[in-house]
Amino acid sequence: MTHTAEYPGKQTKTSPATQTPAFAALSAKTPIEPFQIERRAPRPNDVAIDILYCGVCHSDIHQARDEWGGSIFPMVPGHEIVGRVSSVGTAVRKFKAGDLAGVGCMVDSCRVCENCKDGEEQYCTNPHATLTYNSRDKNGEVTYGGYSTSIVVDENYVLHISDKLDLAATAPLLCAGITTYSPLRHWNVGKGKKLGVMGLGGLGHMGLKFGHAFGAHVVQFTTSQSKIADAKKLGADEVVISTDAAQMASHAGTFDFILDTISAPHDVAGYLNLLKRDGVLCMVGAPDEPLSVPVFSLLGRRASLAGSGIGGIAETQEMLDFCAEHGIVSDIEMIPIQQINEAYARMLRNDVKYRFVIDTNSLKSGAVQG
Ligand code: NAP
Ligand code: ZN
Ligand code: ZN
Repeated sequence: MTHTAEYPGKQTKTSPATQTPAFAALSAKTPIEPFQIERRAPRPNDVAIDILYCGVCHSDIHQARDEWGGSIFPMVPGHEIVGRVSSVGTAVRKFKAGDLAGVGCMVDSCRVCENCKDGEEQYCTNPHATLTYNSRDKNGEVTYGGYSTSIVVDENYVLHISDKLDLAATAPLLCAGITTYSPLRHWNVGKGKKLGVMGLGGLGHMGLKFGHAFGAHVVQFTTSQSKIADAKKLGADEVVISTDAAQMASHAGTFDFILDTISAPHDVAGYLNLLKRDGVLCMVGAPDEPLSVPVFSLLGRRASLAGSGIGGIAETQEMLDFCAEHGIVSDIEMIPIQQINEAYARMLRNDVKYRFVIDTNSLKSGAVQG
């Protein structure tokens, strides 16, 4: 099958789309399995990227299992993508073949609504940003993510990746990194502030690292006794086992900001009571059930319950540059794609330190199946 250029005069020849090996969920109830997809031939503004590594986000599980509703199958998950540019369209100015490149959770947006103009494309209202997978682009085509060997993305939604950092450990910055960096910056969490991070998983460990790097006093909340020592190594000033009522009570009324990264339904009531006057508890975790909120915990301290979604393209680049400057990456366990279903099962048992990253070499023909 071929793709005919849609920009007459700029790209005249008919370029073939590329057959690309991938792994996909064919339904909400079946394991992730090998699947072939087609990537479009680069349009004038497109960057074609050979994917080297892709992080495994809990959102991949929520969507592959249709926990949020509206999932599109077959689905190729993956939105923490790092790779190398293989070719660029005729109008591309920001990238050239051979450059390192990253792709996060979105690959396009309307570019004209207020939020897009403000560089907050993730909140595009026209009608919404095109997500990297489980979404439809402006032509109605389904998008496929990073559990594959290549991707083609408009240059305005591609990030520059430093060669100073470990590449595989950089991949999770594209979602877990920006999703925690953005709210900490928005609410000015830094020196003199007391920050709580709920859940020590992929997002949580990045929130902890950023909070520490920004100079906040960081308290890590965890349900896992086995993560206490790690949390301290990652930068926590204190660690609280959240199921221990006495430990929780000892922090009552003291937090400026609490970042909730928990993936499963849970009780926020006990955490709201830990906020100071004017404190903020910000959800980034996205459980599939509504939360129950005791309003007196909010109005008794003029507290806010907030939410935050990933971050804009400019802020994602700022975060990547900050990480390159400060030597911040994710703590990862590298896996071949053939272990993806086991990785999902382990994440659901809170058993990952602290992000699985797929080595996409394992997708290439002849790779060892493990
Ligand atoms: P993850 O690596 O699986 O970590 C989640 C952590 O939450 C676990 O390690 C565990 O930490 C804690 N947890 C899990 N179940 C719990 C329960 N029943 N009660 C209390 N704590 C529990 O997941 P992730 O990739 O960091 O993603 C976290 C959530 O953020 C997901 O819902 C994901 O969809 C969402 N997300 C949102 C955005 C956004 O834009 N807002 C972006 C990316 C992801 P402990 O072992 O320390 O207790
Ligand atoms: Zn994610
Ligand atoms: Zn928009």
